[in-house]
Amino acid sequence: MYARVAFPTALPDALSYGVPEALDGLAVPGVRVRVRLRGQVRVGVVVELVEEPGVPAEKVRLLEEVLDPEPLVPAHVLELIRFAADYYAAPIGTVVRSAFPGALLRVPPPLVQVGPRARELAEEGSPAERRLLERLLEARRITVARLRTEGWTHAQLSELLPALESRHALKVVERGAGRPPGATVSAVLLAELPPEERARRVGNAPAQVRVVTWLADLGRPVLEGELVAACGCSPGVVAGLVRKGVVQRFRQDRHRDVKRWELTPPPPPTELTEHQSRALAVALDALGKGEFKAFLLEGVTGSGKTEVYLRLVAAAAARGLQGIVLVPEIALTPALAGQLAQHFGERVAVLHSSMAEGERVAAWGRARRGEVDVVAGPRSALWAPLHRLGVIVVDEEQDASYKQEEEPRYHARDLALALGQRCRVPVMLASATPSLEVLALAEQGRVQVLDLPERVAGGRLPEVEVVDLKGEPPEPGEHGQRFLSRRLCELLQQTVARGEQAILLVNRRGWAPVLLCRDCGHQATCHNCSIPLTVHRRQSALMCHYCGFRREIPQACPRCGGEVLDHVGAGTEKIATRVRELLPGTVVDILDRDTARSPAQLLTTLERFSVGASQVLVGTQMVSKGHHFPAVTLTGVVNADNLLGFPDFRGAERTFHMLTQVAGRAGRGERPGTVVIQTYHPDHYALRAALTHDVKGFAEEELRYRKAFRYPPATRLALVRFEAANENAAVAAAQAAARAIEPVPPGMRVVGPAPAPLARLRGKWRVHLLLLAPSRPPLREALTAISAVTVPRTVHRVIDVDPQSTV
Ligand SMILES: [Zn+2]
Ligand SMILES: [Zn+2]
Repeated sequence: MYARVAFPTALPDALSYGVPEALDGLAVPGVRVRVRLRGQVRVGVVVELVEEPGVPAEKVRLLEEVLDPEPLVPAHVLELIRFAADYYAAPIGTVVRSAFPGALLRVPPPLVQVGPRARELAEEGSPAERRLLERLLEARRITVARLRTEGWTHAQLSELLPALESRHALKVVERGAGRPPGATVSAVLLAELPPEERARRVGNAPAQVRVVTWLADLGRPVLEGELVAACGCSPGVVAGLVRKGVVQRFRQDRHRDVKRWELTPPPPPTELTEHQSRALAVALDALGKGEFKAFLLEGVTGSGKTEVYLRLVAAAAARGLQGIVLVPEIALTPALAGQLAQHFGERVAVLHSSMAEGERVAAWGRARRGEVDVVAGPRSALWAPLHRLGVIVVDEEQDASYKQEEEPRYHARDLALALGQRCRVPVMLASATPSLEVLALAEQGRVQVLDLPERVAGGRLPEVEVVDLKGEPPEPGEHGQRFLSRRLCELLQQTVARGEQAILLVNRRGWAPVLLCRDCGHQATCHNCSIPLTVHRRQSALMCHYCGFRREIPQACPRCGGEVLDHVGAGTEKIATRVRELLPGTVVDILDRDTARSPAQLLTTLERFSVGASQVLVGTQMVSKGHHFPAVTLTGVVNADNLLGFPDFRGAERTFHMLTQVAGRAGRGERPGTVVIQTYHPDHYALRAALTHDVKGFAEEELRYRKAFRYPPATRLALVRFEAANENAAVAAAQAAARAIEPVPPGMRVVGPAPAPLARLRGKWRVHLLLLAPSRPPLREALTAISAVTVPRTVHRVIDVDPQSTV
């Protein structure tokens, strides 16, 4: 019997290890094991048991240790891991890395301890041995990693340590992996003994008498640490009592101040609208039958989608089942965390890959032990180890952040559907502006649409005005462009004069996206990327938003020496400055990745705005996400065309989503709102459809276009990109990949090898191949053939199945 073990690395596949007889029955799929990999101790996860190792038997090593008494994750999570690795042509280890908290798969560095002959050899050994032993005698114990940071080389240590260990001057201790979740702590209680027998055994050791008296008075078991602290005794005292049989030691689960039995009372029930009740009833039916069914809960902002899916999850919890709620970004949706707490009290775990490690392990462990009814979080929460999974919700399913943009490049919404199918549980996708992928599934009858057409509070959709920028006088030094139209300026003045608030959406951060020489037309571009540098005036620097390259803003053109350099176009900084000039005395804040570097900064800015300390908020798409400001009565989209011009097949869809969200957001309070959309293309269908919230109309038009150009969801798309510092190397690798899939099967289309739209990024040339196929199997076959081609070390190959963008 062989165990296939996956490591949290980009090794192409799991490796086979022999299962020694002693570990037979313990090495089951889902447990962690300790093995040797290229001479080093590693922790991996058993993903499968097989009869044949797949490599010559003499090359197979044995498992050294099984670290868990039972699988750490339920079978369906392991299945999902294997499915994702296969579907996305990703190394299974990278999927394991996404699914498990990192702390559980890391091996602490080996520890070096003083041996019995350390002193002796510290005097008579070689100079290097003496130096090492002196350091060790001073520290008593030290990690190999620490020694490395103190200047010892790997070569030195791999020679010295074994030599000194064989002479008993030191001992190298390999340690196990991080504690499994549900780690235990040591606790003690008094053994059941007649008082006189207890007294006899304790005798008159004063410290022991004190401990026993204290325990008897307390009358309950205590944690060993608690006892040592309370009685001021050494752990040796407790050990002595255990040996005498007066005290019993046991282990119990560690709880991180979880108040398990104190549930907050349920919130007063809110009355559901007729549409909400109908949608909920349909989903509850699927839940009751225990069957897989995919729903699209479609409704404008404010139509009460959240209430419907929270009730669905609550209904699952009432049946003893657990739910997963995926949201695009937990940091931006504190409101949801609050609502979850209202419905589920303490029985909620939030899982987030950027949580502190200890927190993440603790939350993961609670999910695993069944102490929660719902796990919420961004895409990584999908991997939550829930044994009684009953329902999955994906809120804002169209959000691009569900797709992971590094290996494994999985899409959490698509995997949620796959998981629901496997576990036979309903999956509810919610959106005001569904993705074309899901709309296409709905058209095929594979997703049932549950409509929520009206706004719950009876709020009105705002009035939308489109301003054609072609009719506006251009601004000086801006090469014909205009940022704030006369109409938008007028509305801004009126809004602020009435004591109300405005939001302006700008797609770019910084001062201006382009620095252009007026004499020769030279444009400042990044050294590492084929991208213009952005002017940041506050930091007085030119910056690349892709690689982080920055330099001072030059005084003269580096090509012709010309001294007039125009800062063309507008980012958040420039727009905020223009608004301050227009409305003197008004407080204008900026909200983008430069001003909100941390969630705390983000919240401060939002808080300032929500209490009215600032009147105008200028920001990137961050401001259009899930916030609700009742005093906002004006929203301006400064330039709706930036997204349309993006060299990607999803440009129109993104624009439609953004504009629809904006149009649906303003005026959620008592006062009606106005939305102004500025554009040079007022007749574009994405814009037209957004104005009337015509999801269906947009989808029809866009699907027609995608079909004509054979883009998803009309076809299956995979992108294979080759990145290298040397352009020829990237081209050669791409050509080799293209040859590997010849002859191209009928129906499949291969575009390229061709330079990617961003031909150079972070110093690397990028050449790509697009594979388009009518169905999955030929695509999968082509990717297998491409994966089998070895790429030179200098070339990085990226395989992206169902890519979000092709730049
Ligand atoms: Zn010039
Ligand atoms: Zn760059």
